[in-house]
This record gives sequence, C-alpha cells and structure tokens, in this order.
Amino acid sequence: MNEKDLCPCGKQANYLDCCGRYIEGGVYPQDPEHLMRSRYTAFAKHKRNYLIKTWHPKTCPPMSMEELQAVTWLNLNVLAAKSGLKKATVEFEVSYQEGDETKSFTECSVFKKVKNRWVYFGEEAN
Ligand SMILES: [Zn+2]
Repeated sequence: MNEKDLCPCGKQANYLDCCGRYIEGGVYPQDPEHLMRSRYTAFAKHKRNYLIKTWHPKTCPPMSMEELQAVTWLNLNVLAAKSGLKKATVEFEVSYQEGDETKSFTECSVFKKVKNRWVYFGEEAN
C-alpha cells in the first residue's frame, strides 16, 4: 500500500476503506470509537464540514480553515472507549506539530446521541 493512502487514524488501512468511508462517503459511524477516529482524521485532513457535522450543535465552535491548517497531526492512540445508551466516552492520546514544536495531550472525549447519531460533545470534566 502506498504510504500516502494510509488512513491518518493509525489503522493500517487505506483511507477510503477506513475513515474515508465516513468523511467522503455517506456512511455515518455507528459507534463512538469510529466516530472519534474519523474526527481525528478529519482534523488531519482539514475536513471542516465533517467536523461540524459530527459536533454537537450546542458546543460546536467556529472553526476557520487557517486554524485547522496551523496544526499537523502526527499520531492517534485510542486508550479506552466506553459506550452507554445516550452518552459515551473515548479516551485517547494524540501528538501533533505546531510550528517547530511537537506536543501531545490525552483527552477523554464525551459523545452524545442526537437524533440517533453519536456526535462529539466535549471534553469530560474531571
Ligand atoms: Zn481511519
């Protein structure tokens, strides 16, 4: 497989067979982990419309292409995923490059169901 066709989310899969199904195709991710992975990939590939589509309408921030392009996403590592009926959490670690600096953080994301679809709500409060 060509390196450039690999999905950024870290699965050893072709982008179009992995997160690309959700981002480019009409398929909506059925579980929070796939949604989270596809959102990471959308950040990496600057797919602004997909990020808005998968963000809870109450918490979705304004996002410019310039902001999205300022960061290069390097790696995603999903640590844990828990799913309930209406709320789910996915804990992950990411590393990215901003300017000359490489940084990383761990986040526990909260997903909620809106109209039978999981959407990203925000970061779990400690
Ligand atoms: Zn993927």
